[in-house]
Amino acid sequence: MALLGIKKFNDKVLSKRAKKIRRIDDKIVQLARDMAETMKSGRGVGLAANQVGVMKRIIVMEADFKNQRVLALINPKIVRRSRKKEIDKEGCLSFPDIYIDIKRSRKIKVKAKNIKGENVVVETEGLMARVIQHEIDHLNGIVFYKRLGLIKRILFKKKYLK
Ligand code: ZN
Repeated sequence: MALLGIKKFNDKVLSKRAKKIRRIDDKIVQLARDMAETMKSGRGVGLAANQVGVMKRIIVMEADFKNQRVLALINPKIVRRSRKKEIDKEGCLSFPDIYIDIKRSRKIKVKAKNIKGENVVVETEGLMARVIQHEIDHLNGIVFYKRLGLIKRILFKKKYLK
């Protein structure tokens, strides 16, 4: 296990699109473990590979808050989302101590592979749906404040990204 360095704020890797994983080998499994470890030590609930400088489509998240079970999703894809949206506070390990209101779909259905290479389907809502949308955004090079409206986005940049 190893703790990985987390890329912050304006680091270019955060605005790049991560690439599809073709083969799930030992390196990917190790990456998933290290990401899980890094996420837990930062007290985060989710982490995308580009946040640790790896341009591969893999995310990890806290899936079972009571038992601290971490779920890793490879090449995750949202195949359905509810029209109903919800606004809630969101944080990000790349933006320490900053919490902003972001609007997300309330429910989503996601297809992905797990680290064994098996197909998985996750249908979820609320916090977990929010975390997955946030992390998949990372894989697409979209950090959370880019989901703000224009004025709020400008204010956010002024305040935090000088
Ligand atoms: Zn984030």
